[in-house]
Amino acid sequence: SIPLSFFGGIGCASTKGILVKGSNYLEALADARYFVFDKTGTLTKGVFEVTSIDVKQGTEEKLLYYAAHAESASSHPISQSLQAAYGGVIERARVSEVKEIAGQGVSANVDGHVISAGNLRLMRSLGISADPIHKEGTIVYVAFDHEYLGSITISDVIKPNAREAIRSLKAEGVRRCVMLTGDSQSAASAIAGQLDIDEVHSELLPGDKVHEVESLLQQKNGKDKLVFVGDGINDAPVLSRADIGIAMGALGSDAAIEAADIVLMDDDPSKISLAMRISRRTLRIVR
Ligand code: ADP
Ligand code: MG
Repeated sequence: SIPLSFFGGIGCASTKGILVKGSNYLEALADARYFVFDKTGTLTKGVFEVTSIDVKQGTEEKLLYYAAHAESASSHPISQSLQAAYGGVIERARVSEVKEIAGQGVSANVDGHVISAGNLRLMRSLGISADPIHKEGTIVYVAFDHEYLGSITISDVIKPNAREAIRSLKAEGVRRCVMLTGDSQSAASAIAGQLDIDEVHSELLPGDKVHEVESLLQQKNGKDKLVFVGDGINDAPVLSRADIGIAMGALGSDAAIEAADIVLMDDDPSKISLAMRISRRTLRIVR
């Protein structure tokens, strides 16, 4: 039988916008020693500002127009940001045959042309030769009918509470905080450097994130629990693989909310450490 105070703990959490799907997860959270975070939208705001545009062919306007239209069907934070940077009206009727390649980018038909927008890995996989850009931030390379058009450099910032959240998790006994990202090494280390992150793995595909979590699960002691926190974009497999999967609600897909054990109704990182404090307080009453 479930001790009554677990209902108290789950109820208390829910009033703070923390939905715990079962008393076993609230109990397990007290033993969380490994925290693995997705970067974009989890530790960072997921609102990218354009910091530079490097045109190889055509104009900046043309580059932004095609990128924003090709991205118009995607819910990735990068796509939202590029549409905002374009600023004009997106005519969805101009866009067809949209293909989103997780951890790489998108391809779509815009005005009868094949537009691809994504990272260097996407360009390589399509056989498009793009000159690597060495700038701080996330580089979105854009191709027009398989010809390289140029790149848009965008940059994201950490969430205001991210640093404090990691600090308080460590104060609650968390031993290792890891950040996983599909973004470049330079973009990843710029973000991790502002937080008390012990380990960073970059340029990962969604499947690589699962492998990283599996290898951490093998390294840790049996009683210690591993938590994965993601914003729900391509995160479902990792959310279900971790001992405890936490999805940040605002952007989360239905699949992620389904796969998660704990759902945060807003995307405030301080709710993660709050959940852990509620868990430990509940356990003190029970044990
Ligand atoms: P993260 O691990 O930071 O959450 P993702 O795994 O979602 O990021 O994406 C990894 C990388 O793939 C991004 O940094 C970007 O380079 C590229 N990418 C993913 N989705 C898109 C998109 N819709 N448009 C452009 N690039 C994208
Ligand atoms: Mg992500």
